[in-house]
Amino acid sequence: MTRFNTQLVHGLPVHDNDTGAVNPPIYNSSTYTFPFVGATPRYDYARSGNPTRDFLERQIAQLEHGTRGFAFASGLAAIHAVLSIFQPGDRIVAGDNVYGGSYSQLNDHFTRWGLRLTTVNTSDDFERLERAISGNGDTAPAKAVYFETITNPLLQVNDVNRIAAIAHRYGALVIVDNTFVTPYLQQPLDLGADVVIHSATKYLAGHSDVIAGLVVTSSEDLANRIYFAQNRLGGILPPAECDAVRRGIQTLALRMDRQQRNAAAIAQYLLKHPLVKKVNYPGLGKDGDRELQAKGLKGAGGVLSFEVKDGVDPAVVLNNLHVFRLAVSLGAVESLAELPARMTHFELPREERLKVGITDELIRLSVGIEDVNDLIEDLGQALEKAYESLDDDRRESTEGIDQQIDSLLS
Ligand SMILES: *Cc1c(COP(=O)(O)O)cnc(C)c1O
Repeated sequence: MTRFNTQLVHGLPVHDNDTGAVNPPIYNSSTYTFPFVGATPRYDYARSGNPTRDFLERQIAQLEHGTRGFAFASGLAAIHAVLSIFQPGDRIVAGDNVYGGSYSQLNDHFTRWGLRLTTVNTSDDFERLERAISGNGDTAPAKAVYFETITNPLLQVNDVNRIAAIAHRYGALVIVDNTFVTPYLQQPLDLGADVVIHSATKYLAGHSDVIAGLVVTSSEDLANRIYFAQNRLGGILPPAECDAVRRGIQTLALRMDRQQRNAAAIAQYLLKHPLVKKVNYPGLGKDGDRELQAKGLKGAGGVLSFEVKDGVDPAVVLNNLHVFRLAVSLGAVESLAELPARMTHFELPREERLKVGITDELIRLSVGIEDVNDLIEDLGQALEKAYESLDDDRRESTEGIDQQIDSLLS
């Protein structure tokens, strides 16, 4: 048995050619010949399966310690396929801070289709979570719990082990979106999850050049149900994109190591900055590493968020960044910054946003693999611009900040 980093590079070969090519070929064939009438060849039509997609699906199943993997045209297509294994009337409990597109798919599409949805905080109130799953005598137990390993953009850590133990008491399936964490930092199936989902667009592909989704199952029964959805709903990932994700996965560990190191250094810098009110990055406290380990995480990943102090305009900070690009998405080699309230989470009504803690002052960073000093200097000069744009009253009330900023920059 090879180890994780070796698996990243080699995957499980699909023996389908004898050229000796070290990379699996991209098969641009929509159909495959039958050797004779009545034969059952392994590949017949590319929606149902093809060797390029097989490679990626086996690769992610191996890395997530699952029975089978499935590749989809996007993260949302993957989520759609997974949720379509349920039936009208079934109830799903979802985290109250899941990716906006996933929430909208559940709330605007699947409720119309007959699923019932209960949302609840999955990271700290386990009694409430249990009541939501059990139905508390008012309604039947939920058929599934759906949440993300680390939430976006507040970076709360969900304890897969603990949530799975509660869910399984009521026979609910545990569906985990592992996009922010990747199998390099946690394998949710080992902690009790039944299905793992990825927006492979993010860390797995890693270069902001492909939209893709992946699913891994813990059992053959679930795999058969999801294969039906993949083949019949048809939201499959084409061969060239499968290959782009495969290649991205080969460098996952190298990228993530650098991204985490950079993110931790930036978090420490921001914690000390006089214009910063709050920094969200898992494991920042003194016992941080132990806290992460207790929740089954080997690291905190490369995304963090922070709030600027009242009166400081976060848009001025963002508009003055040069190394960080102002863009949604995350997990790629280049650093990105965005304003959740007006970019990724603008569809949430302001009241709902504030209730879950996404304030107007919150900035999210996806940290890339650049030199960390360039990233820190970029943030420093942008914060300085925001300070200069404060009106005089505010600047007086923040007296002393000038020297503090100067000492941080020097
Ligand atoms: C981006 C994202 C998705 C959606 O994936 P797409 O590839 O954009 O369809 C789902 N979940 C999380 C956590 C994401 O970040």
